[in-house]
Amino acid sequence: MENRAQKFSVRSAYKVAVRLKNQPKAEHSAARLHAWTWKEIWSLNVPPKIRTFIWRACSNCLPTRDNLHRRRVRVEPTCELCKQEPETTTHILWTCPFARNVWALIKGKIQKCSNGDSDFFLLFKQMQTKLSKQELETWAVTASALWNARNKVYFEQFQPQPHIIWEGARVLLEEYQSFMEAQRIA
Ligand SMILES: [Zn+2]
Repeated sequence: MENRAQKFSVRSAYKVAVRLKNQPKAEHSAARLHAWTWKEIWSLNVPPKIRTFIWRACSNCLPTRDNLHRRRVRVEPTCELCKQEPETTTHILWTCPFARNVWALIKGKIQKCSNGDSDFFLLFKQMQTKLSKQELETWAVTASALWNARNKVYFEQFQPQPHIIWEGARVLLEEYQSFMEAQRIA
């Protein structure tokens, strides 16, 4: 009996030791994965201002209604475009009907990605694993174009059509990438 109890305690002590040993490792690899995600933002072949935009969106630094409200600015947290949900970064750039109408115009994997992640950084990570680099770049310029369009609605009372937003994003990316390619060859 004593022996068994002893054995048991040795075994559970061993398990605890293993758990403790593995824990920092698991945290480390999560941190490494995050580091890889941040690095990927800076390596996107998109105009630098779009890289900065995605970085700000992933850091939750955009002045969305929800963020302003949390920082005690006296604004309603609700999205002005659909008037249904709080205007978080993920809402305005991904789940709002205003954004969905633009994403629906893009063929391929992008629009099939889930709407589940409320955190924009996690949404970006999801895109990173599901999309090719070129698709991720398209996703980034479109997200940025959506933010610009949102600002037009909020501050200029002008709402661009979904296909105009998408065309603008597509042309911007195409022109930037062929410019970069020409630089590389020259
Ligand atoms: Zn909305």
